[in-house]
Amino acid sequence: MKSMSRSMKAEKSIALVAHDNKKEQLVYWAKKHREQLIKHTLYGTGTTGHLLMQELDHEMECLLSGPMGGDQQLGAKISEGQIDILVFFWDPLEQQPHDPDIKALLRIAAVWNVPVACNESSADFMINSDLMDQEYAHEIPDYREYLASRIKHLQPS
Ligand code: PGA
Repeated sequence: MKSMSRSMKAEKSIALVAHDNKKEQLVYWAKKHREQLIKHTLYGTGTTGHLLMQELDHEMECLLSGPMGGDQQLGAKISEGQIDILVFFWDPLEQQPHDPDIKALLRIAAVWNVPVACNESSADFMINSDLMDQEYAHEIPDYREYLASRIKHLQPS
């Protein structure tokens, strides 16, 4: 598939999500990096977002709770180019009722070449990257080209 370049601004849109067993860890991490994080626009799934707003004493956009559709909302925002970075402390040791939504969110982040930190150490590396405060060009699928080639391919003869 053809790709095109998309520029992330120096001020990023960062989505923060944690499963219940990982929420304490994400709160700890976010508090540790509060000064860096609040330079950016923050989004969160319902419970994670409200918890972080309280703990960071900072406004962020809270979507629905994950099991109620919040992961899907984030996936839609990623597809629309509204989220630059996903910090998602998902729980590898417990079954989640919304497992298909979690898979879908991780898949769509991979499709759109969005950086994902899945645990505390990857989030540490990410937040300490020089790229966090710089404009950054990354390759994303060329959707117009994708659509045009599919229409051409599937057109009835
Ligand atoms: P929550 O959702 O922040 O509402 O707990 C997280 C998730 O499970 O996706």
